[in-house]
Amino acid sequence: MLKANARAVYSKNGSFESAVIERRDLQPDDVLIEIQYAGICHSDIHTARGEWGEVQYPLVPGHEIAGIVVEVGSQVTKFKVGDRVGVGCMVDSCGECENCRNGEEQYCLQGNIGTYASVDRYGQYTQGGYSTHIVVREDFVVRIPDALGLDVAAPLLCAGITTYSPLRHWGVGPGKRVAVVGFGGLGHMAVKLAHAMGAEVTVLSQSLKKREDGLRLGADHYYATSDPETFQKLAGTFDLIVNTVSAKIDINAYMSLLKTDGTLVNVGAPPEPLAVHVFPLILHRRSFAGSAIGGIRETQEMLDFCAEHGVAPEIEVISADQIDEAWERVLASDVRYRFVIDVSTMKQAQ
Ligand code: NAP
Ligand code: ZN
Repeated sequence: MLKANARAVYSKNGSFESAVIERRDLQPDDVLIEIQYAGICHSDIHTARGEWGEVQYPLVPGHEIAGIVVEVGSQVTKFKVGDRVGVGCMVDSCGECENCRNGEEQYCLQGNIGTYASVDRYGQYTQGGYSTHIVVREDFVVRIPDALGLDVAAPLLCAGITTYSPLRHWGVGPGKRVAVVGFGGLGHMAVKLAHAMGAEVTVLSQSLKKREDGLRLGADHYYATSDPETFQKLAGTFDLIVNTVSAKIDINAYMSLLKTDGTLVNVGAPPEPLAVHVFPLILHRRSFAGSAIGGIRETQEMLDFCAEHGVAPEIEVISADQIDEAWERVLASDVRYRFVIDVSTMKQAQ
């Protein structure tokens, strides 16, 4: 067993504490990664605070992982020591079901194995990227192109792929009107990616506070959802709406902003149910959908797309001692636009 330094929470509302965790000995198809940067996703908070169900403590969150391969198992073929790599929200899946065979491991019919708060094939409780090292099967590791710094690459492993996948699935490109609800970690990536794909992009944010940033990062229009006129003005406008909001909102108000045959896809994952009225759907053959991260092949495609188009998140790099504070700012919608932990600041803890 290899020991790694980490930051863990020990209870639902507990603060982060230093921890030493164990990573399994390298299996033939495993790689050992020295983590350099780990992004902070709102899902880390939902999970650690038990909002999506019970979890075990101590818990080390983190599923936006970027680092360097420092050791490979005897049968590893895709990676070698020194490679720049990433790991996202899942570290394993059955590999045999229809969805896995189609490269959509996130929809594995047996359930994919989450990077943290899951039980893996060895019976161990998985612990995530707020740590110095991780051991992952090579099939769940992706390559980070040289054009992307490891710090900005980290958030692409969740915020990037979670927005890229639905934009691709619903055919976003020139001539399409896309709205992004919520301008946080996922939201700002959705704006950058949809803009790079050639769509006309509108941000729907609670206020106009971040308007300048939105327009600078690729939005063509920016509206406040606190202003009722926004909903009158934009009725029937969009081909696709990507809802990234982490809380319950009145989804029906947004549904009427879709064109006939338009789709509202929810990637935001609030714990409470959303109440959907069927009439806005029926009257214009609209769809209400969901989407989870993306498969490994698509994650690699997204990283290559970002490298080619110069797309990267806006990040604020923090030390390991600032995670609690960063979480509070995420909860207050005061994130600009992704916190990334500099994992080298964890090393002295041992
Ligand atoms: P985030 O950075 O906190 O962004 C969420 C944004 O939603 C906020 O910046 C804010 O934008 C808006 N918002 C927050 N509370 C709101 C409220 N009460 N009413 C209206 N708007 C509100 O979070 P994130 O990391 O992007 O994650 C967003 C959600 O996606 C989370 O629920 C997360 O668990 C989920 N997620 C899902 C997947 C998936 O596979 N489907 C993957 C990753 C994350 P404004 O200030 O602009 O209004
Ligand atoms: Zn995430």
